[in-house]
Amino acid sequence: MLPIVVIGAGPAGLLAAGRAAECGAQVRLLEKNHQPGRKLLITGAGRCNITSAVDRDTFVAQFFGQGRFLYPALQTMYREELLDLLARAGVHCQVDHQGKYFPITNQSGDVLAAMLRYGQRQGVHLATDSAVSSIVKKPDHFEITTSQKTVLAGAVILTTGGMTYPVTGSTGDGYRLAAQLGHSIVPPRPALAPLITEQSYVRDLAGLSLPDVEVRLVQPGQKPVIQRGDLLLTHKGVSGPVILRLSRELKGTASLHINLQPAMTRPELASAILERFAQGGRQHIKNCLHDFLPHRLVSPLLTAAGIEMDRLAAQAGRRTAEQIAQAISDWTLSVTGTQGVHIAMVTAGGVTLREINPATLESKLVPGLYFAGEVLDLDGDTGGFNLQAACSTGYLAGQSAAAALLGNPGNNR
Ligand SMILES: Cc1cc2nc3c(=O)[nH]c(=O)nc-3n(C[C@H](O)[C@H](O)[C@H](O)COP(=O)(O)OP(=O)(O)OC[C@H]3O[C@@H](n4cnc5c(N)ncnc54)[C@H](O)[C@@H]3O)c2cc1C
Repeated sequence: MLPIVVIGAGPAGLLAAGRAAECGAQVRLLEKNHQPGRKLLITGAGRCNITSAVDRDTFVAQFFGQGRFLYPALQTMYREELLDLLARAGVHCQVDHQGKYFPITNQSGDVLAAMLRYGQRQGVHLATDSAVSSIVKKPDHFEITTSQKTVLAGAVILTTGGMTYPVTGSTGDGYRLAAQLGHSIVPPRPALAPLITEQSYVRDLAGLSLPDVEVRLVQPGQKPVIQRGDLLLTHKGVSGPVILRLSRELKGTASLHINLQPAMTRPELASAILERFAQGGRQHIKNCLHDFLPHRLVSPLLTAAGIEMDRLAAQAGRRTAEQIAQAISDWTLSVTGTQGVHIAMVTAGGVTLREINPATLESKLVPGLYFAGEVLDLDGDTGGFNLQAACSTGYLAGQSAAAALLGNPGNNR
């Protein structure tokens, strides 16, 4: 019987290959890099946020309207099953106060080693330096051409990842391969990417973290999108969870309206500032605002809003307090774009879900062809969602491909 060939040794491919072999299939895993799992190694800043503590319904809600597709995969493998698989392969994980799971060693390399061990124990044959350039469907098998040779397969699982952070090997090859086999591709674009801002003074604030702010993304001809969370100022603009989440909505240029005090209405904020001025006496107003703004942001924000900051608090009236409340609750920055595909954490878009059976992850167009991981038109928020989705879909695809192939002995498909 011909083997199952899995293309791409990221987390989706490693779990697909391991599970297919565990179910009794002969499995070859082809990876174009010299080393497997390069992207996995840089996840979670090298610590690998492998999954999340949330329940399944909350999990699927993190996939921007596409998550329902994941239910069967999560039914087959969710957090406990993944953590158990990793533990059996030698890596134990723990959850932090935000509900994020990491290996207890805080080393992504340990997670990669465990995933490789899982496949090795099941007899997966891994071939590195094997970039797949074409997949041809024949009546009863597939012909796969790599940089080294042609491989025949009874079934193919495509796990080539997205097209962001291409230095890791995820260069969008899977979209071309899937399109050659007749699949439609939702145009890929960067998601979870920092944004570049026009205002040069932002660069001087690099490293400043603004917890729990509300950000409204406003673009011409589009409905504004609002998100709340932590924001980080960078050398090029803005980042942090709230920005990464908004980045997938960016179509071109836009403006960001940041409310630094979302818990208060603007009149409440103005009153609180006025009260503070009343206690300030001969202090400059810029020295009375530290309850409302981080120290480093006071001068740039007041300057940008055209507010005279060296006035004495005693001389500042309601109107000044209202102007400052306006500046704090609607700090506006112009966005010129994302920092691009080379740095974005995931790809939005990909192989359209309509053409794939969610219960098996088999193509509805090409029997024997399966998909898993980020090559699919699925992208989740930060917090361990993307890795869990890659693992769950990989596991289900491996299991389904093996069942289809082995369930029909003598069928060489
Ligand atoms: C900086 C960064 C940090 C991240 N942190 C987290 C995190 O902490 N938690 C989280 O959940 N997600 C995180 N992610 C996202 C997560 O890494 C991905 O969603 C996940 O790796 C996708 O897994 P995958 O197996 O589908 O694809 P990938 O991991 O991209 O693997 C695809 C593999 O296919 C190979 N390949 C591509 N084309 C071919 C070809 N033609 N022939 C053979 N092989 C090929 C590639 O070389 C690669 O090894 C992060 C991403 C980045 C960039």
